[in-house]
Parts: sequence; C-alpha cells; structure tokens
Amino acid sequence: MKIETIAVHGGNIVSDPLKPVIQPITLSTTFEHQEGTMMYTRLQNPNRKSLEAVLASLEGGADAAAFSSGNAAGNAVFQALPAGSHIIAPDDMYHGMKMLLKTVYSGKIEVDFIDLTKPNQLTDAIKPNTRLLWIETPSNPLLKISDIKSLSEIGKKHQLIIACDSTFATPVYQQALSLGADIVMHSSTKYISGHSDILGGILVTKEQDSFWESIKNVQRLAGAVPSPMDCYLLTRSIKTLPYRMRAHTHNAGKIADFLNSRVEVEKVFYPGLSYHEGFETAKKQMSGFGAMLSFLIKGNANDADRLIGKLKYFTDATSLGGVESLIERRSKVQAGDAGIPDQLIRMSVGIENCDDLIEDLTQAFDSIY
Ligand SMILES: *Cc1c(COP(=O)(O)O)cnc(C)c1O
Repeated sequence: MKIETIAVHGGNIVSDPLKPVIQPITLSTTFEHQEGTMMYTRLQNPNRKSLEAVLASLEGGADAAAFSSGNAAGNAVFQALPAGSHIIAPDDMYHGMKMLLKTVYSGKIEVDFIDLTKPNQLTDAIKPNTRLLWIETPSNPLLKISDIKSLSEIGKKHQLIIACDSTFATPVYQQALSLGADIVMHSSTKYISGHSDILGGILVTKEQDSFWESIKNVQRLAGAVPSPMDCYLLTRSIKTLPYRMRAHTHNAGKIADFLNSRVEVEKVFYPGLSYHEGFETAKKQMSGFGAMLSFLIKGNANDADRLIGKLKYFTDATSLGGVESLIERRSKVQAGDAGIPDQLIRMSVGIENCDDLIEDLTQAFDSIY
C-alpha cells in the first residue's frame, strides 16, 4: 500500500457485525470480561488501537503508542530509561521538551545538549551511562537538519537507543525508522491533527523489544492516554494528511521564494532553499521539505511586531501544522534561548490559496517599510 492508501484504510479495525465503513467511536471506559479482548480504556480502547495501527503502518513500524500530548509521548521515553541514565539531545531541542528534561528530570537523568547537525561531535559526548540519543529534525525554529542515518550509525556502535522527533517532517516526508532510528515521536497536535483542535502525541517503534515494553508500561500505568474521541478525530484527520501536506508544502515553497525576493528580509530559514545549510541532507532523507519556515527581517523586534500586526490571514499565535497560517515572533515563546534573535519570525504555512497569502504579505511589507 502507498502512503495515501494507508492513511485512508490503515485505521479501520472494525469488528462490528453491521460492518460500518468507518471506525465507530467507543466511549465505554470498561468492557465485559472476555478472553483476549479489551478490558479498560486506560489500558486499550478500540479508537486508540485504530490510531496506533494507522500510525505504525505510516512509519513502517511494529507498534505505536498514543499519548495525550507530544510532551507526554517524549516523557514516556525518558521515564522508561533506567535511573541515572545519560541522554544526548539537540541544543535546539523543542523548547517544551528541553524544559521537561531540565526541570522535571533535574537530578534524575543527566542530559547534554549538543549540535547534532555535526555528527562527529556526537562521539565525544557519549559517556558510559549514555542510553538515549534524541534527534529532532527538522528543528524548531531554525529548521536545522540532522542526518538521521549518520547519527544512528554512531549511536548504534555505542548501543544507544535512538529516538527521533519527526513532528515537522510528518510520516509523509520522513521515515526515521528506515534511516536507523528505533523510535519515532510526533506531536500529533500539529500536522497529524491538522486543524489546531486536538492535543496529542505518538511514539512508533521499529521493534517490540524490552525497551518498548517499558514504554507501553508507562503509557498504561502512568496513564497520560488520549480520549477515544481524540483518537477518533486524529484517525479521521490522518485520512487527508498526505494531501494536506502537498498543499502546505506547495505554499511554503512559494512563500520562501517570495520572502527571499524582498529586500526587507535578511535571511530565510527553509530546508528547501538551496543555500540552507541542511538542504543536501534534507534532500537525501526527506521526500518533501514541509511547511515550517522562519526568517529574519532587517530591523528590530518592534519592526517584526509591526509586520505581524498588519497581516490579515496569518494569525499571531504559537503552534503549527493546522490548515490556517500562523505567524509569531519566536522569542516571545522562547525568551532567553540562545541563538533566537529578537526579530526572528516563525511561520506555519497553511493551505489557503497561496496568491492570497502572498498578497497579504506584500501589503504588510509595503505598509511598514
Ligand atoms: C509541539 C511540539 C512538541 C510538543 O508537543 P505537545 O503536543 O505540545 O505536547 C514536541 N516537539 C515538537 C517538534 C513540537 O513542535
């Protein structure tokens, strides 16, 4: 099956004798005792199983585990590690996940944040207690690209578990398991939901090994599981994911070129631009460049805010991956994070008509400069 077909059919595990065409919503928290079926919704539920089935197929994995947020999914990986483990993570790791490691895991797990776009720095960072290499590519908000295959090869030589946050890439454009990762993570709040109305997270594993069993225990026993309704809605959203990604990416490519052509713009960060540092690696490991981009305008934070304030179709809000275009001055969210200039603007390009988006950007630039 090709990806569009998996997206449509992969979540149908219906066992109802009436043979409904879509997976029905099963809100029941408990099930009559029977041999070999479900018992209690924290442990498993038909809609969660349906969501996990389609995501495991999309990523080419052996199993998946759904959580109530992306952070809860990442947290399950950290919680499954032995106490005192050491993790290597990217220096530009997603802000919320970095805060999770720095606060909740402070004193429990050791972490080093390094530049994973340079695989040769990885070897030096590995310690005797290093258990996990956490990759995130493309990264937020500078769209840095890390080479999953090279990093996995180094990690495997040192028996590390390799996990990759593929949220920006989606399962449509990047198959991290086939590039050497053991686990893929997504914040399904983003493109997988695609409509800015569901919070969720997902892990997909290459193999059902003992580490995966520990993760499943965190899911079932710590209990940060999504509701049947959210699982149903996510499975529904996934049916159009490959087609949404096409529209998102088409628009993002055009907007990246447009921004590049404006004299008011200092630099555009988009992996599909041939001058982007990660362009070659992105071309090798992704089948599309996605629809997140950021750019620096000539001027200061105030100029960036004025530009954002003039836009009609881009909402000044955080998050990403919804059908509607969003824009924000990133340092409002990541204040104090090194390497995020005050005038950096991040954009999640939606699926509106691209001509309207470019017209909107044009009038905004023209009116502030
Ligand atoms: C949003 C996001 C997360 C966290 O997901 P939540 O659903 O907000 O908990 C993790 N990684 C990346 C790359 C994200 O964009």
